[in-house]
Amino acid sequence: MVPPVSSREFEASFAEIHPPLGPHEAIAEATRCLYCFDAPCTNACPTHIDVPRFIKKIATGNLTGSAFAILDANILGLSCSRVCPVNVLCEGACVLHRYHKRPIEIGRLQRHAMDHFYARGLRLFEGERRRGRVACIGAGPASLACAAELRRQGLGVTVFDKRPLAGGLNTYGVAEYKLRPSDSLKEVELVRAMGVEFRLGVEVGREVSIEEIEKQFDIIFLGVGLGPTLPLGIPGENLAGVVDALRFIAGYKTNGGAYIGRRVAIVGGGNTAIDAAAASRRLGAEEVHLLYRRSEKEMPAFEHEVELARQQGIRFHWLTQPVAIHGGQEVEAIECVRMELGPPDQKGRRQPRPIEGSNFRLSCDMVIPSIGQSRLIEFLSQCRRLELRHGCVVADLETGRTANPRYFAAGDCVNGGREVVDSVAEGKRAAVGIGKAIEELHG
Ligand code: SF4
Repeated sequence: MVPPVSSREFEASFAEIHPPLGPHEAIAEATRCLYCFDAPCTNACPTHIDVPRFIKKIATGNLTGSAFAILDANILGLSCSRVCPVNVLCEGACVLHRYHKRPIEIGRLQRHAMDHFYARGLRLFEGERRRGRVACIGAGPASLACAAELRRQGLGVTVFDKRPLAGGLNTYGVAEYKLRPSDSLKEVELVRAMGVEFRLGVEVGREVSIEEIEKQFDIIFLGVGLGPTLPLGIPGENLAGVVDALRFIAGYKTNGGAYIGRRVAIVGGGNTAIDAAAASRRLGAEEVHLLYRRSEKEMPAFEHEVELARQQGIRFHWLTQPVAIHGGQEVEAIECVRMELGPPDQKGRRQPRPIEGSNFRLSCDMVIPSIGQSRLIEFLSQCRRLELRHGCVVADLETGRTANPRYFAAGDCVNGGREVVDSVAEGKRAAVGIGKAIEELHG
């Protein structure tokens, strides 16, 4: 193991990858915008932030107005400005691409306005109180977006979460160099200041029963996300030195550092695997190997993330599947088999299959599995009359309505795991659906 980094080294290693714009830079960038009438950037944003409107306000020096324009559409404007894959969303749609020009840096401009908003301690208004109480279960992006929108409608909202801090993956699961917990918690405080009650460290289904929640609230919104990282299901998984990616990321983020191996093997090909690999390097691992059972082309992680990881010296092993982890008490090596891609399956995805006799061992003292998250079937089964498909809640994407009219749901527990901005958009839409359902109940 590598000795833990000091807090100063931690700060330096996890410096944000997209530094903020200075005031002059921001104005110069904002004035490059064409303020398109049909704004493809706005259409590409799942929360439909009015991009030309907020950029124009930056260009005219009205940063507060700009921030309000962003928050009107997206209550998590601060975290989305840092974690959104802008090059495949708003910036990817910018018309300047058509003229072979650099797209407007929408993400950094949004961050500029949001940093101004929080630096001045500004707040949002809630709506006039009306009858109706909603319980939001889970305190991640979907619930926060839903809760804020419900408060704008004047409804009473209580958010429950089993963890001591709210924010969900924004607080615990996004790599530090993209989003710091302190920034995620600023957004939680903004939602709290709108009159949302938070009951943290309370697990629904254990400390408080579903029946009790049903008695106390008119509507229950499920924004519970997904469960823990799936196990690899191979021998040696219980050895010391095997830590799943989400636990690893949450651990170093909330403790300001963590013990890390000298040679680390990450298993998986998604963005979380890349985050874990990049964090391992920053924490001081000498070698970081990323093992993925398909080829680079099939890797689900964003291309720009893969490229960044490559620049950090992470070694990629494509078409490689772990079959065992070896060691006495602690991890000493991971055994893998080479794979080849077979013909496409029904979904058109080529299935990997092992090449007989191609086993090899890679020395390592830490293994970080990151092969996706489990589903919260046990908890969801306690909620009566919900329909589940592949472990996810079946809900109308426009209204969040589930098979049980008193339950609404959105975010990862419905979509199976997408971007933060998708959860925000779905949570907000569900709040509109809930508002209508409460009107039907109370008039
Ligand atoms: Fe500005 Fe580009 Fe959006 Fe047009 S598409 S409004 S130029 S950011």
